[in-house]
Amino acid sequence: MPELPEVETVRLGLEPALEGRTITEARIRRGDLRRPFPAHFAERLTGRTVRKLTRRAKYILAELDSGETLVIHLGMSGRMSVYAEGKRRRLGDYVYNPAPADAGNGKHDHVVLETDAPARIVFNDHRRFGLMTLIPTDRLDEDKLFKDIGIEPLSDGFTAKYLAAALEGKKTPIKSALLDQRVVAGLGNIYVCEALFLARISPKRLAGAVGREQIATLVRAIRKVLKDAIAAGGSTLRDHAQATGDPGNFQHHFLVYGREGKPCKDADSKRPGGKKSCRGTVKRIVQAGRSTFYCPACQK
Ligand SMILES: [Zn+2]
Repeated sequence: MPELPEVETVRLGLEPALEGRTITEARIRRGDLRRPFPAHFAERLTGRTVRKLTRRAKYILAELDSGETLVIHLGMSGRMSVYAEGKRRRLGDYVYNPAPADAGNGKHDHVVLETDAPARIVFNDHRRFGLMTLIPTDRLDEDKLFKDIGIEPLSDGFTAKYLAAALEGKKTPIKSALLDQRVVAGLGNIYVCEALFLARISPKRLAGAVGREQIATLVRAIRKVLKDAIAAGGSTLRDHAQATGDPGNFQHHFLVYGREGKPCKDADSKRPGGKKSCRGTVKRIVQAGRSTFYCPACQK
């Protein structure tokens, strides 16, 4: 399941093909994904210019000049691929490949957008847990998709003060509290494990019992792991690909996630305060049905 860095990676790759561009053609190749597409979906997209391309939690938002916003969620296995017209082409910071003959015609290619970049954008989703819908832009915040979502961890408002208040009195383990989208938006299993490791906090600690100083360290750790993951193009464990089709690279940099039974990477983790090397072994436990990886020797 893509988390914040994977979605942000896809958004960045879509930006040169979509932001400030006009959708010249929209082809909707089936009636629904996780839920039905809106009525007259293709007509409401065609001819519209994308004013801004942003992200909220794990949603990509394309603000149209019609007053509606195209909301995209990748679900479990959704991919947005950008192809250039005719030959390999650089747009912004990205080089896109020409569209193969069948690009947009595959069995799982559900939505195809042509833009005046010119570029072809293909939404492919073999499991169809993804979502594409249109919401009036001025009503986005109160829409049921967004109204309960917490703060963006890469925004200025995500501070130790905010997190301390959000965790105060919580009797759930810190790991579960951080996965709660009402507390922080877009965090998932992988990056919570990595951030807790960086901050030397045991995933089993009760959220309300984490001290103020450690919360400040945790805020820095969350921001660092997310920024590093975005810079690496996200993590590709199964389906994630960048808009160029390239896989992400961050899975090669995991410090604890998926490393059960392996030696603690304290020494090469550049954690704050990491002076001596930990001799611990990474352990896997299950919390709320999800695997948690951590080092019991140095995460307290
Ligand atoms: Zn350790």
